[in-house]
Amino acid sequence: MIEGIIIKGIGGFYYIRTQDGIIQCRARGIFREENLIPLVGDRVRIRISQEDNTGYIEEIFERKSQLLRPPVANVTQAIIVMSVKKPNISTWLLDRFLLMAEYEKLEIIICINKADLAPDKTEDIKTIYKNAGYKVISTSSKANMGIEELSTALKNNISVFAGPSGAGKSSLLNKVNPEFKLVTGEVSNKTKRGKHTTRHIELLNLEENTYVLDSPGFSSLNIDFIEEEIEVRDYFREIHKYGEHCKFLSCLHDKEPNCEVKKQVELGNINNSRYVNYLQFLEEIKNIRRY
Ligand code: GDP
Ligand code: ZN
Repeated sequence: MIEGIIIKGIGGFYYIRTQDGIIQCRARGIFREENLIPLVGDRVRIRISQEDNTGYIEEIFERKSQLLRPPVANVTQAIIVMSVKKPNISTWLLDRFLLMAEYEKLEIIICINKADLAPDKTEDIKTIYKNAGYKVISTSSKANMGIEELSTALKNNISVFAGPSGAGKSSLLNKVNPEFKLVTGEVSNKTKRGKHTTRHIELLNLEENTYVLDSPGFSSLNIDFIEEEIEVRDYFREIHKYGEHCKFLSCLHDKEPNCEVKKQVELGNINNSRYVNYLQFLEEIKNIRRY
């Protein structure tokens, strides 16, 4: 028996990275009966059949996490990449990606990319999100900034890169490991090039125990997985922290009296744009019609 991790699945075959290299395997029929579909990221035990010299997945170890989009098991970390310019950073979008990663209980690193284009603004954004409780790295693939720091942060994780298209995710991954050779460039060119090739999800191996996904995470920005307004509070770290001191346990930090969060916004300890985005997400959840 050999152990390994599924790095790719194509047409009924799974590719398992093991100590003995990459082994092509089929899944045992029993998984189908159990309605268990092996996922990229699954840690598995395999056996090579003497009869047909093919590998078979014998056992799937318990998953630590499971992402829906892309469907990958055992992701531990989200790297949220936003370009400071080209396209201009949207904190609304950043906060939305953060909310999704918080919901999935992933480790989170914010990566402010294309720092070469606007160094001062990069620092401003960095300060806001550090104060909110996040680890923030400023990077530039063009100017070779922050690549070491990013590489270090990836160690011993399975990371998914998220962020709008054009933010520079593929360029960063290519910097982290030039062998990846991911397609980069203008959005329109990329979709053109990708049109006739089927996309498979693949775990790219960076070093022992360190993987990154080759496709971006959270491609849908739909947040209707959130069922109640009150949950939104937990996905904003600093709002969650200060909110524990509000007069009412159920305080939504909106119009309630004696709200510690509103007080801290006025004092400048909670960034106003974070608070405004929080209120917008509250409103959005309130307005989702539920049947
Ligand atoms: P993705 O869609 O997030 O994977 O973004 P890409 O990596 O394809 O990059 C989109 C565009 O931004 C490309 O034209 C890159 O050359 C450019 N780009 C990427 N990183 C940087 C950077 O650090 N600085 C600057 N100025 N441009 C960058
Ligand atoms: Zn409050």
